[in-house]
Amino acid sequence: MAVLNQLTSQQAIDLENQYGAHNYHPLPVVLTKGEGVFVWDVEGKKYYDFLSAYSAVNQGHCHPKIVGAMMEQAQQLTLTSRAFYNDMLGKYEKFACEYFGFDKLLPMNTGAEAVETALKLCRKWAYEVKGLKENEAEIIVCENNFHGRTTTIISFSNDPIARENFGPFTNGFIKIAYDNLDALETALKNNPNVAGFLVEPIQGEAGVYVPSEGYLSKAKALCEEYNVLFIADEVQTGIARTGQLLAVNHEDVKPDLLILGKALSGGAYPVSAVLADNVVMDVIKPGNHGSTFGGNPIAAAVAIAALNVVEDEKLAENAEVLGQLFRSELNTYIENSSIATLVRGKGLLNAIVIDEDENSDTAWNICLALRDNGLLAKPTHGNIIRFAPPLVMNREQLLDCVSIIIKTLKEFEK
Ligand SMILES: *Cc1c(COP(=O)(O)O)cnc(C)c1O
Repeated sequence: MAVLNQLTSQQAIDLENQYGAHNYHPLPVVLTKGEGVFVWDVEGKKYYDFLSAYSAVNQGHCHPKIVGAMMEQAQQLTLTSRAFYNDMLGKYEKFACEYFGFDKLLPMNTGAEAVETALKLCRKWAYEVKGLKENEAEIIVCENNFHGRTTTIISFSNDPIARENFGPFTNGFIKIAYDNLDALETALKNNPNVAGFLVEPIQGEAGVYVPSEGYLSKAKALCEEYNVLFIADEVQTGIARTGQLLAVNHEDVKPDLLILGKALSGGAYPVSAVLADNVVMDVIKPGNHGSTFGGNPIAAAVAIAALNVVEDEKLAENAEVLGQLFRSELNTYIENSSIATLVRGKGLLNAIVIDEDENSDTAWNICLALRDNGLLAKPTHGNIIRFAPPLVMNREQLLDCVSIIIKTLKEFEK
């Protein structure tokens, strides 16, 4: 069969174009292999991965301990559904609860499903514990959020492309400005029906917006004052990406609901979860919620291995140190640059802003040039490029990447 032979890049792209829905606009590079911080295309060219599948591959591509755990479990038992118990799920739940400091975990597969789960938990808690009247609960969200692609989640997005012609939408959400405590307090004060506040500790998709210091801890305090759940979407920021295990750890905040995905499996498998203490999680009773694949034995084995790698290889510490180095090197360059205006971020979740308007294609063209120079990154918006390498990177590799980035940006100086 022709499709089993090694394709050229163009053949692979043509196949996707013809037979795949056009719901993405990938950078034209066709990858066939990954190891650690590197990926290779079908023609054998090697690249630094500076996206890490949107921070799913924090532990590096094809980490042998994660792949090993997956292969071992795949030969033993893959799926039972939750109609029966399996001998991996409980072990994983105990491990993850102790690891993150919560009473209970609810297993799902994708980030969007975990966000949906958190929203359902929040509403149910509001009716059954807080005592709101049925169907009146409201959840506060932030402008320019990204929480996934389900119908309910896009109901409170303000990205027109994500919403166009997908209505009618789900009610019950109040949108406020991000990084604005006054807006949060006003929304809480004026509405006795608020059940929760859903927030990204750093807005990743929006362009790596880091809120002011103290925002998260003060927002948490306001939520406590008004008896509202603080829901942290750490699907992108969690699991060591920002230089701490969780981005909320920078401000010593413990969320009431913690949403994890992406790097929870090191990118080996779709694994997501919501963690909470009993007072919240115990509102869920048999039949209320579920997923056929959620909590399957492979996911459990993979997630334990992936979290062990984060701890054993001190990935949070590495992200913190290399992130400082990355921003300081780029800042030195940007001082005299006419093309890049700033670099921002925490740990190894960073972005540079290109001196062009949102609709310019300069950032895209810079990413094409980065690719030609051996480094893969992608614009988040017309003029912002996110830089998020695997956290297993070392100092020498990071400095090599910095010189590729600066050399490439210099090609675009005005
Ligand atoms: C990626 C992401 C999601 C959605 O995860 P999927 O696995 O793509 O459904 C949700 N929230 C945040 C903050 C994300 O970055």
